[in-house]
Amino acid sequence: MAKKLDIRRLDEAKTETRVVARESGSGPWKLRANTCVLGAGIGGVSAAIESARLGHSVVLVDGLPSLGGQAVNGIVGTFCGLFANGPDPSQHYQFTHGIADEILRELDSQGAIHYRRGQWTTVLYDEVALGRWVENAVAREDNITPLLGAILQAVDTDGRRVTGLHFATRFGDVHIEADYFVDASGDAALTYLAGLPCRTPAQGNVFGSQMVVIEGVDIDRSPDRTTIADRLKAVGADYGLLRREGFAFSFPGRGTALVNMTHVETPLHPTEIVSRGLEGKSQADKAIQFLQKEFPDAFGRASVRSYGQLGIRQTRWIVGAKQLTLEEVLAGEQFDDAVARTAWAIELHDKQDSHIFHTFGEGHVHYVPFRSMTPPDADNLVAVGRCVDGDVAALSSVRVMGPCIAMGAAAANAIDLADGASLHSVDAAQLRARVHDNVDRRD
Ligand SMILES: Cc1cc2nc3c(=O)[nH]c(=O)nc-3n(C[C@H](O)[C@H](O)[C@H](O)COP(=O)(O)OP(=O)(O)OC[C@H]3O[C@@H](n4cnc5c(N)ncnc54)[C@H](O)[C@@H]3O)c2cc1C
Repeated sequence: MAKKLDIRRLDEAKTETRVVARESGSGPWKLRANTCVLGAGIGGVSAAIESARLGHSVVLVDGLPSLGGQAVNGIVGTFCGLFANGPDPSQHYQFTHGIADEILRELDSQGAIHYRRGQWTTVLYDEVALGRWVENAVAREDNITPLLGAILQAVDTDGRRVTGLHFATRFGDVHIEADYFVDASGDAALTYLAGLPCRTPAQGNVFGSQMVVIEGVDIDRSPDRTTIADRLKAVGADYGLLRREGFAFSFPGRGTALVNMTHVETPLHPTEIVSRGLEGKSQADKAIQFLQKEFPDAFGRASVRSYGQLGIRQTRWIVGAKQLTLEEVLAGEQFDDAVARTAWAIELHDKQDSHIFHTFGEGHVHYVPFRSMTPPDADNLVAVGRCVDGDVAALSSVRVMGPCIAMGAAAANAIDLADGASLHSVDAAQLRARVHDNVDRRD
């Protein structure tokens, strides 16, 4: 029986409507800040938070409706490149500090990270907890205005300066003016639309991956990485798997595992990338079937908890004032303007079925120079994260999250030091002193 209407509760204000229509000539929403950061992945978030703490007003923009980029939405799931290598894990000092310290502390207190220690130390994390950390950290900074669901459409330039960015959102167009711009888009979207030169791999693809978190895993019976890899090689084709390696990292105490067993092309094309994403999910489903059937004790009752957005490794990146080379990475070349460091492997996903994983021994460190982050023909634009300038192999190492965080901090400090002038005029020694913890600290 229908519930009787409570007429007293429905006064005029609740029944009357107001007619609205778009006013002709109404322009875009306008925002102005000291710094505009495009891309709210781990690199952009680091740049935005460090800039805000240096007293700069920041607009942090992303095309996704949520913060955190691939680290959260692609479920990357593991912090790599944050610690030194070597046979004794107790000697694995931390390469990058800043927001990395805060993330590790907060997620540790929630039981939301797990350190995997061996020849190198990596840190498995719960992507939901990381997502909330990013949201809370951004919300705490009064100087940051986040703008989400905003796709960059055009870039205004005036000589060597970027002057404004135009975005489309579901709530109308937005125009942002700023003194400095950070391209943390991963695909160098800002630099490319500004008409500045960018790079793509000259040959072949760098494959992305569809990450998946599965639940219902019996962690105690979980096989080690080598056992899974050997079995994948032997019978992966029977399951229709295109990639014949990968891993399922179990998260102790949670009954979950992070699965990375697919290779998918990631073309910079609006519809093809969607098709590849669907193909990635289908590959991931086959990988789960493989785990369930081949290792029933551990994975027999496992099911998918979440699919990440298609993970994109290397697509298009800036031409910087300097290109970091493989030789420099292998030699651990020191640079006067070094701003980030890592010892992460050359991790080049260049084949559908496999990838190159060239590791470094104890004591090895390689660096990212600030010049690799700055397009030579722009004075107020700096790139951070996976779209800085390296050759294909060099970039495959320094694009992991440890150095991405350090590059974000470096961009913020360089902008602060430039104080209105060209980023190319920033004194390398002064910048290095500012980012000492991410380049020279060792404890
Ligand atoms: C499958 C996979 C597994 C990986 N595994 C690891 C790992 O285990 N450990 C590790 O440390 N690293 C790993 N990496 C590398 C690492 O995750 C990334 O390189 C890193 O997260 C990049 O961070 P970023 O801030 O540079 O870019 P992203 O996280 O890619 O952020 C870029 C942001 O820019 C936004 N954007 C792009 N274009 C536009 C536009 N036109 N308009 C508006 N917004 C835009 C995007 O929406 C996105 O949120 C992995 C990468 C992949 C793909």
